[in-house]
Amino acid sequence: MSQARSQRSEEAPWVERDAAVVWHGFTQMAAYVGNAPIVVERAEGRELIDVDGNRYFDAISSLWVTTLGHRVPELDQAIIDQLALVAHATLLGNGSRPVIEFSEALAAVVPVEDGHVLFGSDGAVAIEQALKVAFQYWVNVGQPERSRFMALGDAYHGDTVGSLSLGDGGFGTTVFDPLRFPVLRTPGYADPDWADKAIAALQAHAHELAAFVIEPLVQGASGILVGRPEDLARVGMACRDLGVLLVCDEVATGFGRTGRLFASEWVGPDFRPDIVCLGKGISGGYLPLSAAVVTRPVYEGFYGADLGEATFYHGHSYGGNALACAVALRHLRLLEERDVLAHVRSVADHLGARLEAQVVGRPGVGEVRRMGLMCGVELAPPAGATRWGRRVCAGAVRRGVLLRPLGDVVVLMPPLTSTADELDRVVDVLCTALDDVVAEDGV
Ligand SMILES: *Cc1c(COP(=O)(O)O)cnc(C)c1O
Repeated sequence: MSQARSQRSEEAPWVERDAAVVWHGFTQMAAYVGNAPIVVERAEGRELIDVDGNRYFDAISSLWVTTLGHRVPELDQAIIDQLALVAHATLLGNGSRPVIEFSEALAAVVPVEDGHVLFGSDGAVAIEQALKVAFQYWVNVGQPERSRFMALGDAYHGDTVGSLSLGDGGFGTTVFDPLRFPVLRTPGYADPDWADKAIAALQAHAHELAAFVIEPLVQGASGILVGRPEDLARVGMACRDLGVLLVCDEVATGFGRTGRLFASEWVGPDFRPDIVCLGKGISGGYLPLSAAVVTRPVYEGFYGADLGEATFYHGHSYGGNALACAVALRHLRLLEERDVLAHVRSVADHLGARLEAQVVGRPGVGEVRRMGLMCGVELAPPAGATRWGRRVCAGAVRRGVLLRPLGDVVVLMPPLTSTADELDRVVDVLCTALDDVVAEDGV
C-alpha cells in the first residue's frame, strides 16, 4: 500500500477502514456499513467496548464461544505463563506439555470411554476429523461397505465442504450442492417423532453406515431446536445395537451452555458416543481450539505398521496450539472451582421464567425455545414484513445489548457467568426493541 493511502485511511472512521479491507463471515458486505456494525476495541467482564467507548452486554457470547466472560484474570495469566515457555510447537510426530495436561483433564470429563484427543482449531475441523476417522476406521477393520453418513434435518456442523455436506443446507449453501457428498437425512428435533424415524432409518441402512452424526439435544444454528433426552437415549441405544458409530457434535452445547459440562450428560451415564466433537467454549472463548475425542476401540483401529496404510493422515499446522491448550486447561479447572454449572442452572431457570412472563405470547413473538443458557426467540412477522430478526437485534444493539439473529430467530446465548440482573436487562431490551419493530410495521 502506498504511504499516501495508508495515511488517509488512518483518519477514516473505523467502520470504513474495516469495510475497505476485511471480508466478514456470514455477512453481506454490500450492506455491512449500512447495518451499523460495532467495532470492538476492548472488553471488561461480560461487556464489549467499542472504539467510541460505548458498552455492549455480550448476549451472544461472541458467537457462542465466550464462557466466563472477557479478560478473566486467571485465563489471561494462563496465557502469559505459557507464553514464557513456548507459544506453539507442532503435534505432528512430537509432544507438547500443555497439550498432554489438557488432554488428560479433558479425557477425564468427556463422556467417551478412554478418550483419545485429536486437535484442530475450529469446530468444523473437529467434524472433518470425525468424518474421516469414522470412514477410515471401517476400512481399517475390513468393513469398507460402511461408508455413508446419516445426519438430521436442520443440522448444522460447520462450513468446510465435509461439514457442509453433513449439514442440511439453508443459509445460502445450495450453491455448493454440486460439491456436497450425499448424506442420509432423517428429520431433526422440529419433528416430535424424530427419534422413531431415526431408529427406523438406522435399522434400514446400518449395513452401509459409517456413523450417525448428531447435535445432542440442541440444534443450535437452525434456531435452537430442542430435543428430549429420553429420545436421544433410544437413538444412542439403536446405534450401539446396530454397530453404527455415534458422533456427537458438542461444538455449541459443550462446556456448560446447557447447564451440564456436555449436553450428552443429560441423557444419562449409559449414553457414550464413539466420537465427541468440541470447539467454541473449549478455550473459554480465548483462542481457536477444537477437538475430536475418540473412544479407544476406534483409536486402536488405526494401529499398524509405521508409515503404513492404517495411519490417520490428517493434521493441521496449529492443531494443539500450546497457548490455546494452556488457557483451555485453566478454563476447565475454573469451571469446576467456581461451580459454574450450578450457576448456569440457576440463572437459566431465572431467564426461563422471565421469558415466560415477558416474551411468550407478546405481539410479534412465535415460539420461545430454550435449553440452559441457549435460547431462541422465534419472531412471527406479519405477511410482507421484512428483516425482523435483523431489525430487532439492531434495536437491542442501539440499547447496549449485543444480539445477532439467525433469520427471524433472535438468539440469546449469554456468558455462563451472567447475573440475574444482567439477564433481566437483556429481556427488557429485547422486549423494547421488538415493540418498536411491531409498532413500525403497524402490527
Ligand atoms: C459453530 C458450530 C460448528 C462449527 O464450528 P466452527 O468453529 O465455526 O468451525 C459445528 N457444529 C456446531 C453444532 C456449531 O454450532
